[in-house]
Amino acid sequence: MAILVKTAAELEIMRHSGKILQAAQTAMKKALVPGISLKEINTIAEDVIRTAGGKPGFLGFHGFPATICGMINSEVVHGIPDDRKLKKGDLVSVDCGVIWKNLFSDAAFSVIIGGEETHPERAKFSKTVRSALLSGCDAARAGNHIGDIGHAIETVVRRGGYSICKEYTGHGLGYEMHEEPYIFNYGRPGHGAKLRAGMTIAIEPIIAAGRPTCKILKDGWTVVTADGHDSCQWEHCGVVTETGLEIFA
Ligand code: MG
Ligand code: MG
Repeated sequence: MAILVKTAAELEIMRHSGKILQAAQTAMKKALVPGISLKEINTIAEDVIRTAGGKPGFLGFHGFPATICGMINSEVVHGIPDDRKLKKGDLVSVDCGVIWKNLFSDAAFSVIIGGEETHPERAKFSKTVRSALLSGCDAARAGNHIGDIGHAIETVVRRGGYSICKEYTGHGLGYEMHEEPYIFNYGRPGHGAKLRAGMTIAIEPIIAAGRPTCKILKDGWTVVTADGHDSCQWEHCGVVTETGLEIFA
């Protein structure tokens, strides 16, 4: 399948989809304090999205039961929000998607519950993963290749001493949450599909503080690190331009 380039009108809709998602993220970040549960955070996100006229992008996606994926400490991806109360020093990653006029946005952030000073080691980990993401976004320039994005991410992650959960990747997005191409979090400069202005993609380093081997819990969704060490995810979606990714959310 050819990789689609979006029209100016489609990009406008996706920017708005991203704005709704950003509003949901802002509300969630404010509410992520010790004692709250991810189930409550899920409700906050869904309220913001629906009030803005959007639809939760994850709810019902392959049967996923919630608006957000919420991951605590060793949880890697696809965490189902539940009643556990978040504690000071927990590393929480929240992934969320929005549909606005049939077009998707998809983004994730991480926080240290109670503030970065409650767990400097986790704060450093999260900062490194975010910096790897931004480095990947910077490499998402027209004329570059998918491998340039992966290489940029990998360089920052390895320098930090962390490891890449290679089975999880970024992706194109638009009328589907996952479109071609896959955006790997590792790669060789100049390799892979060429990036063109107008391609809409999500870049999402999913990183382990220890070994990158993962396993799926009995709920059939939640992925955790096999060695129990922390995992962290950051994600932006946007459009490839001559100067890097224009970030929608
Ligand atoms: Mg996501
Ligand atoms: Mg994604």
